[in-house]
Amino acid sequence: MNNKKYDYLIVGAGFFGSVWAREAAEVGKKVLLIEKRNHIAGNMYTYSEEGITIHQYGPHIFHTDDQRVWNYVNRFTTFKNFVNQVVANYHGELYNLPFNMNTFYQMWGVKTPAEAKLKIQQQQEESQLNKEPENLEEQAIGLIGQDIYQKLIKGYTEKQWGRKTTELPPSIIKRLPVRFTFDNNYFNHQYQGIPENGYTELFENLLDHPNIDVKINTDFFEHKEEYIAEFPKIVFSGMIDQFFDYQFGRLEYRTVRFEHELVDSDNVQGNAVINYTDYETPFTRSIEWRHFDKKGNKDKSILSKEYPAEWTPEKEAYYPVNDEKNTQMVDRYLSLAEEFPQFIIGGRLGEYKYYDMDQVIVSAFESIEKYLE
Ligand code: UDP
Repeated sequence: MNNKKYDYLIVGAGFFGSVWAREAAEVGKKVLLIEKRNHIAGNMYTYSEEGITIHQYGPHIFHTDDQRVWNYVNRFTTFKNFVNQVVANYHGELYNLPFNMNTFYQMWGVKTPAEAKLKIQQQQEESQLNKEPENLEEQAIGLIGQDIYQKLIKGYTEKQWGRKTTELPPSIIKRLPVRFTFDNNYFNHQYQGIPENGYTELFENLLDHPNIDVKINTDFFEHKEEYIAEFPKIVFSGMIDQFFDYQFGRLEYRTVRFEHELVDSDNVQGNAVINYTDYETPFTRSIEWRHFDKKGNKDKSILSKEYPAEWTPEKEAYYPVNDEKNTQMVDRYLSLAEEFPQFIIGGRLGEYKYYDMDQVIVSAFESIEKYLE
């Protein structure tokens, strides 16, 4: 290997690694970015089939309140306006998500915010919750009451995480908005959209710089010691426990697998995302891709069903499991990382945080500000 000409080795071509690579390149640093998979763009990777854009690792809708992040991603691709509006199917009953006046009307027949608040308050009182929520179940009932918890949260969450809602942190459910207006927008952010030509193009443009070399199909761990000997700085966005040889134990992750179906129709389910919130249906979401960007063959539709599972090493890690045991373990890894100025570790897997895409970009900006020399 002739790696002497590089200032930085960057491991992983998701947002953390790719933004780092671009920013380092723009100030004149020479960067080698390696990626173990056969493509860039991490879990945002998209490809086209029948002209329909498929997100290989599940639906990614870009949303942010941060003007700087929005301007940044728009430098590298054109975004198409898309407002995510999810429908929940509980044993055949349909409800709008996130939790809003439409959901409350469908659940209870209430027609005003005051009636909805009263109903939720009654359910909270019946559940006798009067302390700070200690787990996801208590948090959910405290926010929207028993009925919605039982029909729209419990089953979905236990499938998604493979754990009881009483063993999961309250923070997970606080991702979802609760609002007393008739507004089905899944997100509260000011900016929302989908790249017009898919995420892969965004990453191609982000990494298109004379100071950046990209090598796919290249696993850092096959030559870890050589890389450490040869590169003055390593930006690592993979799994932090693997980076440190699991010396404090193995972190747990959730993964998902997809079953794809090509059908002769232009509209099978009438919406991009339907959540199956009962425990008995084995998948969590059904995605009909053409509804995201309205592109592709008009006579065909592709649907993907999403099945969550516990992560094992031959699979891709998607979600950190931020329960107490894993949180304590990752804190030890993150403190250890501080002791090595040669290593800069970040991103969803590097920090073991349930980051959205925009939050990863913000964390990359902060890391660059702090460590780019
Ligand atoms: N959730 C739920 N019912 C739903 C959708 C989400 O209970 O219909 C819970 C579930 O615990 C999930 C969390 O809310 O893990 C966050 O949902 P989000 O849609 O943000 O998950 P992601 O898109 O990141 O998988």
